[in-house]
Amino acid sequence: MKLINRVNFILVPIILGVLSFASVLAYLFFANHSAKVLASSVTRELHFFAEEIEQTLQRNRATANEILNSAELVRFLNSANPQFQAYAFEIRMRKLLASARQNSQQIEQVQLLDQDLNILIANSDNDDPFSDPVLLPFPDYVFNRYQYQRNSNDDDLTAQQFIYMDAQSKLRFGLLQPFSPKLLLEDLSRIPKQKHNLLLLGGAVNKLSALREKLMESYQLSPDEIKINWTSQVKDTKASTPLVSSGRGPYGQYLFQLRTSQFKLALTLPYKANAPLMGNLTLVLTGLVLTMTLVSFVVLRGLINKQVIKPINSLIEQIQASRAENNISLEHKDSSDEVSELNNAYIELLDDVQHLATNDTLTGLANRYSFQLWLERQLQRFEKTQQPMALLFIDLDNFKQVNDHYGHEVGDKLLKVFSERLITSIRPTDLAASMHTKALARLAGDEFAVLLSSVQGPQSAATVAQRILEMFEGGIEVEGTIHNVQASIGIAMVPQDGLHAQQLLKHADAAMYRAKSLGKNRYQFFTKAIALELAQKQQIEQSLSLALEEDGFELVFMPIYDIDSLQAVGAEALIRCPRLAKIGIYPDQFIPVAESTGLIKQIDLWVMERALQNLNEVRDDPAFTGYYLSINVSAVELHNKHYPEQVRRLLEKYQIDTSLVELELTETSLSNDDESSLTTLNNLKSMGLTLSLDDFGTGYTAFNQLAAYPVDSLKIDRSFTNQVGEKKTKKQPMVDIILSLAELYKLRVVAEGVETKAQLNYLRDKGCNRAQGYYLCKPVPWQELTKKLSVA
Ligand code: C2E
Ligand code: CA
Ligand code: CA
Repeated sequence: MKLINRVNFILVPIILGVLSFASVLAYLFFANHSAKVLASSVTRELHFFAEEIEQTLQRNRATANEILNSAELVRFLNSANPQFQAYAFEIRMRKLLASARQNSQQIEQVQLLDQDLNILIANSDNDDPFSDPVLLPFPDYVFNRYQYQRNSNDDDLTAQQFIYMDAQSKLRFGLLQPFSPKLLLEDLSRIPKQKHNLLLLGGAVNKLSALREKLMESYQLSPDEIKINWTSQVKDTKASTPLVSSGRGPYGQYLFQLRTSQFKLALTLPYKANAPLMGNLTLVLTGLVLTMTLVSFVVLRGLINKQVIKPINSLIEQIQASRAENNISLEHKDSSDEVSELNNAYIELLDDVQHLATNDTLTGLANRYSFQLWLERQLQRFEKTQQPMALLFIDLDNFKQVNDHYGHEVGDKLLKVFSERLITSIRPTDLAASMHTKALARLAGDEFAVLLSSVQGPQSAATVAQRILEMFEGGIEVEGTIHNVQASIGIAMVPQDGLHAQQLLKHADAAMYRAKSLGKNRYQFFTKAIALELAQKQQIEQSLSLALEEDGFELVFMPIYDIDSLQAVGAEALIRCPRLAKIGIYPDQFIPVAESTGLIKQIDLWVMERALQNLNEVRDDPAFTGYYLSINVSAVELHNKHYPEQVRRLLEKYQIDTSLVELELTETSLSNDDESSLTTLNNLKSMGLTLSLDDFGTGYTAFNQLAAYPVDSLKIDRSFTNQVGEKKTKKQPMVDIILSLAELYKLRVVAEGVETKAQLNYLRDKGCNRAQGYYLCKPVPWQELTKKLSVA
């Protein structure tokens, strides 16, 4: 996903989340606040309600007093003719009720009772004077309390004020006032229990429905959403301050309780009661969140786009443009922000990659690839300038020994020392004044190249080559040890030796090989003779390829004899290529070519297969019992990890006992610390094959290293066999040394190239075990060999 899209995906939820959270907090705050406002205003309303009730009750008491103080009542009670007095009292009563009604005091009835609660006279608020009074029943508790007071001993009778809710949920009030007819105008608080009357006043208050309506209106509630629970309690008339408490129910309802001396009122409002107070807060907040989200998103996105994404995109564009134009146009940026750092890191990475691609990591010189490119470019330039050039191909002599004996680290250091010397000694010369860094290269291993792009002629090239050779005088010192390495240099000239990079390199390389074969530590120009040799090498290569395709090889066998009995015990298989033999080329010449081109792997397998095939033919021939074949194996196979397995398969295919096969490995190919070679040798050895060191004495094997090699026998090279016999030398012959060495390491010795009887005798006398050579038998084809053995 593109960064900008990712930003969208991340930004929107984050902004929305944060703002929503804030708005929920705001909502909760407002809700809490509005709940408080609601609670306090309902509380106020309840206080107000209580006060109104109290006022009603007060007025009630006042009315009662008025009645009790009226002369009509006194006359009525004390008259001998109450019938007559009742009339006057009733009139007085009616007036009183009417005036009360005008004072919006709804007194519904008045009763005068004797102490046994019998009605003496009753009146109700009724416009019609001739109708019977409508008397509503009072709740029992009113009278119960009175009865209780009357029956108990100590309590005085007290007036009782009550307020209750009737069956229709209408609020009604009343006053039961005991009084002594004798003490009417006196203190009403001490009423004798013996003789008293009761005044009972009853009325209705519509305050509750007023409260209900007020709440409905204020909080937009329906009637049944307002729950009122009324409990009356009978107390004496003394008023007490009303108490209002408020709280919340389990579902967020608003709970209120009003307590006065006369009643308890529990009021429950639903959770949503504060909605009118909140107004359309939810809507406002939602709108706010959405607009703020949009605004913040636009602003933040804009900022991120400008500060991060645009710079990154422009960097990408620059990189793509650079790729398209094949030219890095990126520039270092000075600012310290991450995009600039990315830009700079990228440039540095490119530099590193370029350096890696063009430079040799060990020495820092150009590598083969960049040197070739450089060479091609210089050759193109030559077409215009016609300025002669020289290519020097340098290969160190004896470098392999340093690597083998002192390890790769020392070898690497030596290469570094040499390349530093090369730079410092060649650059400042007049010849190479304008020398480019790419003109000095390490091509591979210990191979170096120098391109002198403007020389007068071969003489100047020779001067530089000579200077390089002089660099090795006195050896090269690494970690306190002086290593005796030198160089062989091949020189190819432009234009005479070539005008193409590959060709020039090949020619300089060939010239270097010639320098090596002429004794090393010298320089050699590419010559016609070398050109011929090169051509011949190519021809050999072609012929070998053809021979492999067309089964164009043959094997001949050179018998190997037990030196005492002169019994043939085995034979060495030697390859022949008739196609090459026709033009005078034998294994000595074509095997090295096969090795340098890699064809040797196929050739070795062909030889092995053919030899085993031949051996298989005579498996049951008693003349061949114990007869073994010695097969030459190229050093290349020591680094071929598949070789032992390939041999094993062939042995299996031809059902050859491994003890009948000996492998000959050239001594020069072995080195002590070459792990992979030793592994291969051990693998072959563990298969039961016999291993033999060929051309022993011509290599560099330190004698004490012999113990490390899993070999069974040594083959004395023909050149050492030639030294013994008739010719007497002052020096102890090499043969003697090899034989005593073999005795020490318990190795069998086969002498090669025995051409005279004297040589044979000498070797036998010195304890050599086996011998082969023209004196005994020349290499013969398989048919001939079998015939010879059968006859013998
Ligand atoms: P090498 O393994 O040292 O083989 C011995 C060489 O000396 C053979 O030469 C053999 O014909 C020759 N020789 C043996 N006795 C005498 C003698 O008394 N007088 C003279 N003048 N020569 C004698 P060839 O066959 O030309 O082989 C040369 C080299 O080619 C071999 O040296 C070996 O290194 C290599 N080679 C030969 N055949 C094979 C092969 O099948 N595979 C591999 N990898 N290398 C082979
Ligand atoms: Ca051999
Ligand atoms: Ca040999």
